[in-house]
Amino acid sequence: MSTDYEDVCAICHRTESVAGKMLKMSDTMCLCMDCLQKSTDMLNESPYKEMLGMDPSQMANMFGMGMPNMNPADTIPNAENASIEATDNKDGSVSADGKEDTKQDNKEDKKTQGGNVPPRGTFFLNLNDLMGSNLNPRTKIKKRNPDEKKEPIIKLKDIPAPHKLKAKLDEYVIGQEEAKKILSVAVYNHYKRVATDTMDEIEIEKSNILMLGPTGCGKTYIVKTLAKLLDVPLAIADATALTEAGYIGDDIESVVSKLLAAADNDVDRAECGIIFVDEIDKLAKKPNSNHRDVSGESVQQGMLKLLEGAEIEVPVGATSKNAMVPMTTVNTRNILFICGGAFPDLEEIIKSRLSKQAGIGFNSDLKDKFDKDKTLLHKVTTEDIKKYGMIPEFVGRLPIICPLDSLDEDALVAILKEPKNAILKQYQKLLELDEVKLIFDDSALRAIAKKAKEKDTGARALRAIIEEFMLDIMYEIPKDDNIGTVTITGDYIEGKGGPVVEMRV
Ligand code: ADP
Repeated sequence: MSTDYEDVCAICHRTESVAGKMLKMSDTMCLCMDCLQKSTDMLNESPYKEMLGMDPSQMANMFGMGMPNMNPADTIPNAENASIEATDNKDGSVSADGKEDTKQDNKEDKKTQGGNVPPRGTFFLNLNDLMGSNLNPRTKIKKRNPDEKKEPIIKLKDIPAPHKLKAKLDEYVIGQEEAKKILSVAVYNHYKRVATDTMDEIEIEKSNILMLGPTGCGKTYIVKTLAKLLDVPLAIADATALTEAGYIGDDIESVVSKLLAAADNDVDRAECGIIFVDEIDKLAKKPNSNHRDVSGESVQQGMLKLLEGAEIEVPVGATSKNAMVPMTTVNTRNILFICGGAFPDLEEIIKSRLSKQAGIGFNSDLKDKFDKDKTLLHKVTTEDIKKYGMIPEFVGRLPIICPLDSLDEDALVAILKEPKNAILKQYQKLLELDEVKLIFDDSALRAIAKKAKEKDTGARALRAIIEEFMLDIMYEIPKDDNIGTVTITGDYIEGKGGPVVEMRV
């Protein structure tokens, strides 16, 4: 098993760094000194002693436990030396009483060995079976060595400048020019802050980001691409699944657990990762509600301390705290939070604000003008977001607002063919393996984009549409070795004809 990971006490679930030295009872099970002491104290009480018919110290030896200040001989079931009670005196001295007790207990033990009580060891369950013989490595926490001079996870020279970040994003993400620019600068500044830790007097404040844009316009995709480019762990969480602690649903801290898992339970790496919370608009305050809103406003409240930066106790390898999962502490100070949401009626709020500002009298004219305005979302202010139902403290902790555009037909056509891993390129590659050339003519691309636009789910609809049309082609082509080229036409997509198939010459 890797020594890079911390041991976790099987009883209290604290980690080695919190609970101190652990006793290894088997490959997968450890006990901290406190729990070991408590268990032996408990077993020493008479009801247990009688029930088990032996000295707890001998039981400890049966498990192969050795106390830290014992010599190796102590771990051998030896009547004279095996007193845990005696060696556990605070000053480590062995008291005369301890020795006497041990002797007495050993006499008792010898008696019981010869009596009706089954022989040693048959009382016990195999604790390994209970724990699962192979403890899930995801519940192990990577060791941190406080003495070791820490190499910064992110080095200043490794952070690409904003224009380079944007250029890289351009290879994958079509359109969304403003969003790519805002994010490149924000992410660059954030990691500069992380890499240099704190400036002497001027501490750079953390800048979390709020992304606004319709579904399928690339919010998650941009964040994923950024995290990949920067090689930092990323957790994507859905705000609708979160509830206030104590209610059914995921605890708010679970988003940090996800990040920890994405960082392979390496707390240092997780502490400079990115958490993307999607569907944040679903947390908006419900108007005129007298009920306690455990999955909306309360979640916004609960997220405040995460956004600002705090030491959070998080379960490792699980989404909720319970007695069976180990806990660790993660500081969210350097974690970049990006919240994303579609905010469906936000445009109406912006429109009404703008028409009010523009003065009274020409409202119908203005309304028409704003209805046609495609860039309305770019005029958003924090006031509009508050009006939407986000609490002011929450909006205040997301100082960077990044609006995204809905994708038009041209953008959808470009998404089909231009990005580095464009859907068309993926299919072409697949058919290339069968030595068949796949061509989509322009009318086909337009027809696909048109269909996708009708579905109103942004670029997400593209793959579903292509899958549908490619099914028959992918099924038929391997049947005939003579097929050389397949051309998908607009007529095929519109159901007026079939694909054009050319044979090899
Ligand atoms: P949302 O805005 O709802 O988070 P996603 O980012 O999940 O949408 O987008 C869904 C998919 O659509 C992505 O996986 C990506 O393949 C594609 N996509 C969306 N927007 C773009 C874009 N601007 N450029 C390239 N691909 C995009």
